[in-house]
Order: sequence, then C-alpha cells, then structure tokens
Amino acid sequence: TGIYHSLVKLGDHQKIPTRPDLDTATFVLSQFPHANQSESQIALVDAATGRRVTYAQLRRSIRSLASALYHTHGVRKGDVVFVLSPNSLLYPTICLAVLSVGAALTTANPLNTASEIGKQVHDSGAKLAISAPEELHKLSPTGVPTILTSRKSNNHNLQHLPSVEELIECCDPPLELPRVAQAQSDTAAILYSSGTTGTSKGVMLTHANFIAIMTLLRWSADVTSANNDVFLCFIPMFHIYGLAFFVLGLLCVGTTTVVMQKFDFQAMLHAIKAHKVSNIPAVPPVILGLVKHAGEVGSGLSSLRRVSSGAAPLSKQVAGEFRRRFPWVELRQGYGLTESCGAATYFVSDKDAKARSDSSGMLVPSFCAKVVDIETGKALPPYGEGELWLKSPTIMKGYLGNVEATAATIDSDGWLRTGDLCNFDGDGFVYIVDRIKELIKHNGYQVAPAELEAILLSHPTILDAAVIPVEDEEAGQIPMAYVVRAAGSELNEDEVIQFVAGQVAPYKKVRRVGFTIAIPRSAAGKILRKELLSQSKHQLVSK
Ligand code: AMP
Repeated sequence: TGIYHSLVKLGDHQKIPTRPDLDTATFVLSQFPHANQSESQIALVDAATGRRVTYAQLRRSIRSLASALYHTHGVRKGDVVFVLSPNSLLYPTICLAVLSVGAALTTANPLNTASEIGKQVHDSGAKLAISAPEELHKLSPTGVPTILTSRKSNNHNLQHLPSVEELIECCDPPLELPRVAQAQSDTAAILYSSGTTGTSKGVMLTHANFIAIMTLLRWSADVTSANNDVFLCFIPMFHIYGLAFFVLGLLCVGTTTVVMQKFDFQAMLHAIKAHKVSNIPAVPPVILGLVKHAGEVGSGLSSLRRVSSGAAPLSKQVAGEFRRRFPWVELRQGYGLTESCGAATYFVSDKDAKARSDSSGMLVPSFCAKVVDIETGKALPPYGEGELWLKSPTIMKGYLGNVEATAATIDSDGWLRTGDLCNFDGDGFVYIVDRIKELIKHNGYQVAPAELEAILLSHPTILDAAVIPVEDEEAGQIPMAYVVRAAGSELNEDEVIQFVAGQVAPYKKVRRVGFTIAIPRSAAGKILRKELLSQSKHQLVSK
C-alpha cells in the first residue's frame, strides 16, 4: 500500500489515553509522583544556583499560580498567554498553570526582537504575557498586560508589576479552581514555525497532541532504560523539543532535570560533573563541540550514558568520531518537527543506532509514514527517495487563522507533508537526506527565508532578493542573500548584512551576500531556489 507503519508498539500499560475530556495539565499532574517514587523526588535543579524543586513543590506551585491566574488575573478557557523567558525552574510551573486554567500557551525565543514579538502577540491574540524582566521592553509596546517571572532586577520601573514568584507565595494554599471543562481537541499551545513555505505561522497543538507525545516519551524512557537518568536541559523550553521533552514529558517519567538558562559549553561541562548528568538531549552543534574538545573534556563525562541529537541533521563523520572518543556514551539521532509535536522517529536500540549513524531511527509507535515521489506523487517502496508524509495522534490541528496554509500542509486524509526528503531502508530505518522546504536551520533554530526577503525588499536600493541556506560546519546552515541592486547603487555586502541584522534576532542574521543581476523565478513568480543553491555551490567552490 506504500504506507510504513511503526514497527515498535506501545505495551498495554503504555497506551495513549483517549478520554475526550482529558487535558494536558491533568494528565501531567496525574503522573507525578510516578508509580514507586515519592513526591520528595527532585524534579528540577538549577544548574547555576543548585536550587532544587521537588515534585511536591512543583505540584503546589502550579496550583498556586493557576489559582492566581484564574482568581486575580481573570485568565479563562480560550485565552492565550504569551511566555517570554529563557529556561528556568519556573518555566514548567508557568506552562502547567496556564494550561490548568484552560488557557493556551504561546512561547517565543527571547532573542527575538520587539517587532518579532509584537507580531506574535498580535497573531496569537495573547491576552496576557508572562515575561522575564530583561525581556519586558519587547512586550511593552504591544500593551498586553504582563506578569514578570521574577522581580529580581535592579530596574525600579518594574516594581509595580506582579511577579510569578510573588503570586505563588500569595496564593499558598491555593484557592480552589472551578472545574474547567476541557477537551482533547482544544488548542493547548500555539508555537511558531514557517512550515514548508512563507513566514512564521501559529502551529496549533492540542491536548490530544501533548497527551500522545507525553505517552510516547514515557515509552521511550522505558525502552531506553532512562527512567532513573539525570537529564540536562539547555534545549530551549520555548521550542517544541524543550516543551515536549522537559516541560511536560519528563515530568511524567519522574526523572530529575538539571536546568540551564541557555546553552554554554563550559557551563554544560560543569553541570555534567557537578550533578552527575547521565542523559543529554542535544543538537548537532553540541555533539560537534564535544568531539572538538574531546581531549580536554574526556573524564569529565564519566557520568554520561546517553546523548540524543535532533532538530537538524547530524553528520555521519561527527557521529562516528563521537562514538570513537566517548565509547561509553550511547548516541542516538531522532527526528521530528513542531507540526508533529516534536516526534516522528527515534532509535530504540543502541546497537541499531551504532550500525546506522546516518539514520534518524524508526517511526515511533502510533506513527505511519509515506515517502512520496516529488514528481509523480506516488508512494514509494523501501530505498525510494521522496517527501516524508506523516500521520499520528501528535499531528497539529492546523495553522492558526490560516486555512490555506493548513490545507497545503495536511491533506484531507490527515497526512502531514514534512518538506523533508527521505528514504526508508528494508528494515524500517529512516534516512533524512535533504530539506525541500524553504526553511533554514541555524544551530537548530528556524530561519524563514521569506521573512528575510521581505526585509531586504524594504531597502530603498534593493530591487529583488532571495535567501537560501549555505552549509556550515558549526551552525549547520547559515542564511545567504542574493540581492539585485538598483541601477547606480553601491550597496556592499557589509551594508546588506547590517541592514538585516538591525531588524532580526541574531540567529536569523544574513551572514553572506551575493550580488546578481536577476533572481531566477518561475512563470508564477516563485523563486527558483534550486538554481540559486547550485549557483552558490559553484561560487563557493571557485572562491
Ligand atoms: P522544527 O519545527 O523547528 O523542530 O524544525 C523541524 C525541521 O528540522 C524538520 O522538518 C527537519 O527539516 C529538521 N530536522 C529535525 N530533526 C532532524 C534530523 N534528525 N535530521 C535532519 N533534519 C532534522
């Protein structure tokens, strides 16, 4: 039939709950304390300060904050709450409190500019924001009422705003919340992704999506014996990878997570040693960093048992070198996307992962896939290369307020087009070989060419522009702009780079510029990115 089914199954005790009124927060809270562990189990540790939060404290702070949001701030079912903060011990409390009152979350990268944040506030219809004090200035122009995460700041202008820390203290013990009727089909989070084309769109993920992903994470912890691991989290909690894994999933497993505010190589090494970290979900640049510094890192990694890599392709050479340098550490690749709630493929066994360094693993339980020939639209057998289409209970409901983009991404049978080129081998292992969607990934972060192109076109002496990815050893990819200058313009590479840099988050910066006399376009006006890609390859080779 051309359909690949997951070859691994959930056990009877691991099934995805389908009760229609079950919501994310109720599910998470029902999972901890997990089975045979007590609530004095440590849920979270702050890598910088050593502060610890037990599952019992976490439960209490979620209830207190939810109570304050409901009774003091009037947050209700159907509202959207914007969370703008780097990773912190409070992040899971904030998300689960928002979900407890029936509201939906929208999260963003704190590196984003005020204008990018403003757009997201507007698009998501956020009614309230919860912001780290340092990011408040990006929300102020939107006029959205804001609660600070904490008031630990020297800025006296902030003293009038409430903080999450105070609200948790004030509402302890919490006032009862009325029972909010929620449905699995309700939207729980709106995360932003550019999908296969265009600019950022709000990916609507439902409670059903999150309940499925948490069940799958519990399953993967079971099959990889990670239940007693100490995890390290520097993966951003605002991204689906961090949200599904650390904010929600691992709390259902009952493990301990050491939280870093953001990634820093030396701080990571320190945290691994200090907290005897055994499991790190990572991204390819981190694996590369470990390989490059293997000489100095060596014995500091003795507690480490498992490292996963996702969010971007991991090179076979880097994976091989990592295994050679750190033979006691299991390295597994996984693949997923925001639109599938972060999951799709993973390795169950280390032996399989070792034997197939360039594979991203097998379909996880509950997933089906098709590999669709780009020319003919036919579903291909093993070893055939085509676009990966996915179906599973974790697939998004659609893009917020964008019926057209939703219809172009999910077909009437519920298949999600990933925009990734792949093939399956005869044993059911998946190889992601290329990206056919426009998306550029810089250090695992999304950069939408269409957004940079719109900025470039706003320059008075740029007539036309196109942005494409260029491979980069450290960051995976960097955005390169092709620019057509107006007659007489002497605009140079540096000026183009600065013009864009002034308007976007640092990870979205254009880092290379090529001047050309025309951008290749189809009859319908679509940029022919393939032509530019091969042009850039020639130029880079001849440089
Ligand atoms: P995001 O929605 O930000 O998680 O980005 C999802 C995209 O990242 C996917 O569609 C892929 O293009 C890319 N990606 C994620 N994991 C992998 C992987 N293991 N190998 C190759 N590309 C990946």
